[in-house]
Amino acid sequence: MTGLIERPGNGAVRIPAGRLLIDGDWHEAEGGRSLPVFDPATEEQIGAIAAASAADVERAVQAAHRRFESPAWQNMRPIDRGRLLERLALLVERDADELARLETLDNGKPLWVSRNIDMPFSIDALRYYGGWSSKLAGEYIALNPLVDDGATYRAYTERRPVGVVGGITPWNFPMGQAVQKIAPAIAFGCTIVLKPSEEASLTTLRLGELILEAGFPAGAVNIVTGLGPEAGQALVDHPLVRKIAFTGSTATGQRILAASARHMKRVSLELGGKSPTIILADADLDKAIPGAANAIFANSGQICTAGSRLLVEAPVYDAVTRGLAEIAGSMRLGSGFDTSTQLGPLISARQIARVSELVATGLAQGAEPLAGGTRLPGKGYFFPPTVLAGRGNDLAIAREEVFGPVVLATPITDSRQIAAMANDTVYGLGASIWTRDLNRAHLLASQIDCGTVWINTHNVLDPAMPFGGTKLSGIGREFGSEALHAYTEPRAVCMRLE
Ligand code: NDP
Repeated sequence: MTGLIERPGNGAVRIPAGRLLIDGDWHEAEGGRSLPVFDPATEEQIGAIAAASAADVERAVQAAHRRFESPAWQNMRPIDRGRLLERLALLVERDADELARLETLDNGKPLWVSRNIDMPFSIDALRYYGGWSSKLAGEYIALNPLVDDGATYRAYTERRPVGVVGGITPWNFPMGQAVQKIAPAIAFGCTIVLKPSEEASLTTLRLGELILEAGFPAGAVNIVTGLGPEAGQALVDHPLVRKIAFTGSTATGQRILAASARHMKRVSLELGGKSPTIILADADLDKAIPGAANAIFANSGQICTAGSRLLVEAPVYDAVTRGLAEIAGSMRLGSGFDTSTQLGPLISARQIARVSELVATGLAQGAEPLAGGTRLPGKGYFFPPTVLAGRGNDLAIAREEVFGPVVLATPITDSRQIAAMANDTVYGLGASIWTRDLNRAHLLASQIDCGTVWINTHNVLDPAMPFGGTKLSGIGREFGSEALHAYTEPRAVCMRLE
């Protein structure tokens, strides 16, 4: 294997070496263990990543801990931590095209998506958090002494970084997710050990190369690739890791939460969803129908906030489902390097098997197929955009996260039940409401139990806007001023003055 993979466009794609970034240097995994990396569009092996053991994770955590405790890190001016992130943003900007091609090769998503969404978002997030580094502030508190001893009591709080962070990321937005964990950790004065998903680690490794080039102090950011139950679990179990920042499935999130109890680790968990796209009868259907398609089919449905439940008021139900099925039937699937591709493959054999099984069960339970439904023949993990119609919320496909381009449409026959239908799920991540009646939109938005409600749009994320879920969709928020609370804790200092 040469480390160069030929694909159409701007030269061959360079595969970064499969090593671990520990204490400012690259290392083989213990015993030289590795895992193969596959192109999901061709099923061809394109490289290998290191499979970190618990001992490798131990070395990474110790390096992060040493850096965190070092006077140089403790005394670094906050604004200079921001400069590190800004330097990294400039390097990602410089290499954005190369990174986008690597992301498309590893994850399968269309190149125009990697170029126009994943990379710009990552650059923005680095800059956004870089700015936060110099905005840390506590508060002055006037106290209420119970005994008048003639003294004056005053207190203030300062925000302290939690310490070493264990970041664990999934494969759907690999580079963006890595930045989402690294940037706030560094901005708020923590150090981090990051474990990317075994399914898509390559852009995180390339980011590691840029982190070294940007001059981050050794140990501030460490990257350990490998298996979740081994490398990820070692991070979760390590007593020196003070916080876990996790994005992934609810099942793994629950395991992490339980394991974190032992050392009372801080956790932020961004988990699964079953988000409703709600189309009211007065909506502008020319916008709502493509909007609903984008809500579920973007990134081949591999988005935690994907609009996988389509709830449509009865008068426009037929028009909406017909329009959505037409869009689904017309979408072009293929290699992300083909400029006409609208949808890439799913990430893995395991994932396409899971999606196929959930759809087959839905059909067996009585859902009506309006478009798609079965895996495409040939090489690559291609699953077509699929529209199912189902009456009632009791089908498994109405309740379980599919994480594929599959939507279940249900008519709303009683408009007083919209919020109840939207909330009839164990998840609470996102929802969108499509209507021309802003009065109705805002009233409905206030009744939906979830982290983000979009009105006449879906899946808009912004580093300045808090993001996370209620119920089984997680704990805590990323982005915006909320991130401050996720990576720092207040320390109160109380004084007696006379
Ligand atoms: P997981 O939750 O298993 O994986 C997410 C991350 O957690 C990966 O880095 C994984 O490593 C790691 N991990 C797995 N097990 C452990 C563990 N015991 N301790 C610590 N870390 C661990 O998701 P999957 O990739 O298996 O996807 C399965 C389903 O999860 C999808 O079908 C989808 O429903 C949901 N999902 C949700 C995402 C979201 O954005 N909310 C993103 C991805 C998936 P490794 O990859 O090596 O196993």
